[in-house]
Amino acid sequence: MLSRRNFLQTTAAAAGSITVLPYVAMAHEHVMSFANGAIKVTPISHASVVLETAMGVIYADPVGDPALYAGLPPADLVLITHHHGDHLNNETLAAVLGDKTTLISNKGAQDKMSADLAARAQVIANTETTSFGDIGIEAIAAYNTTEGRLKFHPQGRDNGYVLNIGGTRVYLSADTEDVPEMRALKDIDVAFLCMNLPFTMDIKAAASAVAAFKPKVVIPYHYRGKEGGTQDPIAFAAMLDSAIQVEQGDWYGKGKGMI
Ligand code: ZN
Ligand code: ZN
Repeated sequence: MLSRRNFLQTTAAAAGSITVLPYVAMAHEHVMSFANGAIKVTPISHASVVLETAMGVIYADPVGDPALYAGLPPADLVLITHHHGDHLNNETLAAVLGDKTTLISNKGAQDKMSADLAARAQVIANTETTSFGDIGIEAIAAYNTTEGRLKFHPQGRDNGYVLNIGGTRVYLSADTEDVPEMRALKDIDVAFLCMNLPFTMDIKAAASAVAAFKPKVVIPYHYRGKEGGTQDPIAFAAMLDSAIQVEQGDWYGKGKGMI
């Protein structure tokens, strides 16, 4: 772990604010440490990510082959942002939910869950807060604002999340454009930020949002799109102030690709 961290720091220094994970490291996960503890991030694919923290293991939008989650610790908490197939899959969800796992979702995703899963879902709406143990959870509005994209994610339906993990604030954007609710976020340590067209936003809008809410670390995710809409997370990183660290993960490796 230490040698990998050192390698990443060396790579980051060589590339300015852009951290490009070496090929071998990209095959798995990377570890990020913060003042208040450590969060281990495992990119699964596209929007699916596992966060291992001292306060529990969090799976966000787990979809895809359950084998992608093999070898990871079981989920204490699963967060679902919305019902689209790249965020909610009943079979995957059932496979990763243990008997004691807490499931938090928006209403729209609960409506698409199988009955047994829906019965377990704790639903929160935009701006509402809840907690899991010592982890604070706030649902952040996630929606489209551009004509022609409004149908994908109408306002008021889907949740991004801000997690307060022992004082470290982690933002999962879900599928959204650079809405005022995102731009107004405060004190974000790590931001998982979507960027793809036509479903969310381009790198210019994403970079503009980052300039507004100034997360310490940005992890681009959900950047493969349709009809030429795939966004380049390296080009995105180059648009940012050098004070903002960007961590690139392997979201679309062999067997992982979505969209
Ligand atoms: Zn979506
Ligand atoms: Zn999506």
